[in-house]
Amino acid sequence: MEFRNLKKQYQVLRSEIDAAISEVLTEANFISGKQVVQLEEELAEYVGVKHCITCANGTDALQLALMAWNIRKGDAVFVPDFTFFSSGEVVSALGATPVFVDIDPDTFNISTVSLEKAIQLIMKEGKLRPKVIIGVDLFGQPADFKAIKEIADKYDLLTLEDGAQGFGGRIGNKMACSFGDISCTSFFPAKPLGCYGDGGAIFTNDDNWNVLLRSYRIHGKGRDKYDNLRIGMNSRLDTIQAAILLVKLKAFKEFELEAVNRAAQIYTNELKEVVKVPVIKEGYYSSWAQYSILLPDRILRDKLQGNLKEKGIPSMIYYFKPMHKQMAFHEESAKVDYGITERVCDTILSLPMHPYLEREEIEIIASNIRDVLKLKKGE
Ligand SMILES: *Cc1c(COP(=O)(O)O)cnc(C)c1O
Repeated sequence: MEFRNLKKQYQVLRSEIDAAISEVLTEANFISGKQVVQLEEELAEYVGVKHCITCANGTDALQLALMAWNIRKGDAVFVPDFTFFSSGEVVSALGATPVFVDIDPDTFNISTVSLEKAIQLIMKEGKLRPKVIIGVDLFGQPADFKAIKEIADKYDLLTLEDGAQGFGGRIGNKMACSFGDISCTSFFPAKPLGCYGDGGAIFTNDDNWNVLLRSYRIHGKGRDKYDNLRIGMNSRLDTIQAAILLVKLKAFKEFELEAVNRAAQIYTNELKEVVKVPVIKEGYYSSWAQYSILLPDRILRDKLQGNLKEKGIPSMIYYFKPMHKQMAFHEESAKVDYGITERVCDTILSLPMHPYLEREEIEIIASNIRDVLKLKKGE
């Protein structure tokens, strides 16, 4: 069994993907080809924002957004404590300080109660300038951007949506990657919409930031890349990746997003009496980057993972370690409570999830989980 079956996806889309790659090879327009422009137009339309700027990966997308806002030493950026490293890494890479914030135990997304406490604490200390809130759409469910936006307005902060796992999600009729003042996503192969290498994109409705982001992404270019107005990066999406993504975006819209939601529903029906299953908030729609369950304790979680492995069922622990415990951030002071993140890190387990997962596979996984938990009862 595959955790995310990219081989199956290629089998299904093979003729279109091969043709798309072959066209790029024939035309030899490897950088900034017409497919990149077409992809940016299609992504912007799908997400419902004015501008889409593709780039080399999701980490660069986040960093470019912070560069466009001139985030630097002395600035505080609020980041959930439970996320992939990049969400905080880009803040420190620019010399600013990530302030980690505990999460909501149901959605695994940033807790807006803890967020407001953290902002007030930083203001009271008076050492850092509060500037940005990063909301991460963890595991595919959008963060609570209505509440985040209210807090941002109250304290005059910018919002950055890290939609690396969230592409395709929705709150009401609004698409993920449209919620931040700037929003970002990743096309890493295992993300909801993945390419065949690294890739990323940035979304915004703001014309000035659009111009800045396009400049920063290509060496701080002015007229062209030999006219340099600012220190930037080299962070473009290859034409081959754009060509692959055009095919995959079509499949994503036509059937893949619905297929993962069907798979999630089957999991939930099978498991809701047995473990804590994911909670999708009323009016929210997830793109199911992960289907993550919570076990009663760490010993049982590790035992279940071992048992599934013996049966050839892959599972992953996203994430072992809270951000505030990462060695790389050891200088960032953590004077707030991270109780929920710490508990979730010890008890979470992500199960196989992708659009080509079959009902029978989910039933096998669920029956193995039930067996292990029953074993516990008998002990
Ligand atoms: C994957 C991921 C990123 C980084 O994306 P890359 O394309 O791998 O650089 C950032 N944030 C989150 C939450 C992610 O899951």
